[in-house]
Amino acid sequence: MSRTVRSLGESPANASRVFHYEIGRAYPTAVGGDRCWVHDSEGNRWLDAGGGAGAVTLGYGIPEIAEAIARQANELSFAYSRSFTTLPQEQLADLVLEIAPRGMGLCYFVSGGSEANESAIKFARLYFLECGKPEKYKILSRWPSYHGNTLATLSLSGRPSWSAPFSPMLQRATQAPVPYPLHWSEGDGNSERYGAMCAQALEDLIVREGPESVAAVIAEPIVGGTSPAVTPPPNYWRSVREICDRHDVLLVLDEVLTGFGRTGRAFGIDHWGVTPDLITCAKGISSGYAPLGAVIISDRVADAFRTGSGTLRHSFTYSGHALSCAAGVAAVRYLVENDLIARADEQGRELLHTAKRLLEHDEVAEVRGVGLLIGIEFAEESETSTTRPAERIADRVVSFARSERVILTPAANGDQLQLLPPFTTQRDEWMTIVDVIDRGLRSLH
Ligand code: PLP
Repeated sequence: MSRTVRSLGESPANASRVFHYEIGRAYPTAVGGDRCWVHDSEGNRWLDAGGGAGAVTLGYGIPEIAEAIARQANELSFAYSRSFTTLPQEQLADLVLEIAPRGMGLCYFVSGGSEANESAIKFARLYFLECGKPEKYKILSRWPSYHGNTLATLSLSGRPSWSAPFSPMLQRATQAPVPYPLHWSEGDGNSERYGAMCAQALEDLIVREGPESVAAVIAEPIVGGTSPAVTPPPNYWRSVREICDRHDVLLVLDEVLTGFGRTGRAFGIDHWGVTPDLITCAKGISSGYAPLGAVIISDRVADAFRTGSGTLRHSFTYSGHALSCAAGVAAVRYLVENDLIARADEQGRELLHTAKRLLEHDEVAEVRGVGLLIGIEFAEESETSTTRPAERIADRVVSFARSERVILTPAANGDQLQLLPPFTTQRDEWMTIVDVIDRGLRSLH
């Protein structure tokens, strides 16, 4: 090996040649992990309350998954998907469709969430070409939201902190408001009236854009990283489904964060029993063991391709990558066989109950959650606001927690924190997480 390639611990991280998110920051070097813990090269253990951006659902260091990947690597790592299919890809499609909402019929595998959403919006366009409706091409979305970091998916995202620098390059996108109970000033944000109003706002948008030109609406069933765990009133998704049907618009649900058990159901939309036309997922499908994402396609959409051109004019070199799919097979099996979706539901309720004690702090406006997707939103105004520095409370609590080797993640919009622990985190570990936030908030005064 070349003299200039460092070995572990040889060279300080601040001399890194990697183009890091925070240039010049000395990142710890992760070398191992178990459950919710990441081990660094200096022997420290970090408690990961962010679950590696929500990807690590099952936990770090599961030998069965590592062995499945190694077995597949020994047999075949990659075969190009336009020439071959592979056993792990076929098995993964079977496993995913077994836990997907009813009415879903095919899977298309990619390398992550942005690719899944980019693919889904192209599938929506292709679907209407198959149906002989070439005038339908617009994709509508909601605010706040995050759908990915490619230019098309960023255009659809309501996440200014990441999209603003690219604004001249983004496509024009129109967005309807997400039902955001905390910020509805007119009463009970969980009421059917509020749900109906927000669904109506989406229908108004479709009508304004011209239903004959609208191909799809893309939305997260429960909001993720921009405003964690914001959940609509009970009637909202059913109404949105009806609106989409009325205007012949596909409903694309972005389950990149919420899929594979994160919210205590296999998919976030399972809380409402609504069938979407396309579902996108990533993260939990492989629990971070390999880069993997998927578009799950309803029978209705699949049939248009089957009876139409019979061709999917879309492909990436690494679509259906065998090694990633083998990781996916092992991860989904582990999820199901260990009953971890029910565990995320149960533990989520307990964690939420524990985290609600943070409401004792003036700064905390809301603690909300579904399964192990928890959001802590700080108040814009509080009795202490006059003394508050410009830096977000969330960022200060994150820095405090980092000094105690607890990884917390701020939300992208507003002043909020998100907790996305692996499903195998134990009670004493989330007590530590809540305790560090509590102390972080106390340290502000
Ligand atoms: N969609 C949602 C809801 C997400 O949370 C994310 C990532 O956080 C993405 C899309 C983009 O996924 P990726 O970072 O794998 O491209």
